[in-house]
Amino acid sequence: MRIATTVAEARAAVAQWKSEGLRIGLVPTMGFLHEGHESLMQAAAEENDRVAVSVFVNPTQFGPGEDLDRYPQDFERDLAICRKNGVGLVFHPTAGEMYPPPFYSAVRVDVLSAGLCGKSRPTHFEGVCTVVCKLLNIISADRAYFGEKDAQQLAVVRRMVLDLNLPVEVRGCPIVREADGLAKSSRNAYLSPEERQAALVLCRSLREARALADAGERDSSRIMERISGLIASEALARIDYVEIVDAVSLQPVARLEGPVLIALAVFFGKTRLIDNARISLP
Ligand code: AMP
Repeated sequence: MRIATTVAEARAAVAQWKSEGLRIGLVPTMGFLHEGHESLMQAAAEENDRVAVSVFVNPTQFGPGEDLDRYPQDFERDLAICRKNGVGLVFHPTAGEMYPPPFYSAVRVDVLSAGLCGKSRPTHFEGVCTVVCKLLNIISADRAYFGEKDAQQLAVVRRMVLDLNLPVEVRGCPIVREADGLAKSSRNAYLSPEERQAALVLCRSLREARALADAGERDSSRIMERISGLIASEALARIDYVEIVDAVSLQPVARLEGPVLIALAVFFGKTRLIDNARISLP
C-alpha cells in the first residue's frame, strides 16, 4: 500500500495504474475510519482494480465555531484499516498541500446546497465540492464512492459531476449502522454514554416514520410532527431540522410521493448528528 502526502506522489501512483489499464475507485474520507468507510472501500474493491482512499480533514467545509480543531484523528489506525481492506493508495495531504496560498478558487452547487444542512452550515457544501473536485483532479478515478448517510452531500456531488462534466461515475452506498441502529459516524466518538443512548432517538424516529408511511400516511407535515415530537421528548436532543424532501431535487414535499428523503439533524450536547431514510412510494 502506497502512502502519498503530496499531490505529485498521488498523481505518480495513479499514472502508473492508468498506464497498466487498471480501473480506479476513490473513497474520499476525513479519516477516523469506521465500518461505514470500510463498506465504501469494499464496494470500490468489487467494482475496480485498485482502491484509493483520501484521508483529509478538509478545513474549508467547517464553519466558524465548528469542530475542525477537535475532529478525531488516528492516522495509524486508519492505515491499518486501509491495509486490511486491500487499499492500494492512501492520499493524506496537509492543508497547505491542498490549499497553497493564495487560494482563490471554489466550486459551488446552488439550490441543492441551500436547504437541509446548508441552512445551518452555509459554507459547508462549497468546501465539500471544492475538495472533492480537487481530489478527483488529483486522483483521476473511474468511480468515486460516497455514503447515503450524507444524502445531501451525495446529491450535491452527483450534480457537480454532471454539471461540470467530471469524468467519473459517482456511486452511493447504504448507511452502515451500529447493532442498536445508530448510524456509524466519526463524530459518535464525541458522545458521552448518556448522549450516545439519547442519540438512538434518530433511528427510532426514522423507523416510526417508515411505519407511518407503510400504514398509508402520506401527509409530510403529520409525519414530521410525529418525528419532532419523538425527538423533543428526548431531554438531551436539540433539533436542527426535521424535513421531508424529494430525494433528487431535495425540495420539501407536502405529500409522500415517489422517492423521498426523511432527513434529520439533531444536536446531542455539542455534537450534531445527521441521519436519514429514503422511502420510495409508487
Ligand atoms: P467522512 O469521513 O465522515 O467525511 O465520510 C466519508 C464518506 O464515508 C462519506 O461519503 C460518508 O457519507 C461515508 N460514510 C460515513 N459514515 C457512513 C455510514 N455510517 N454508512 C455509510 N457511509 C458512511
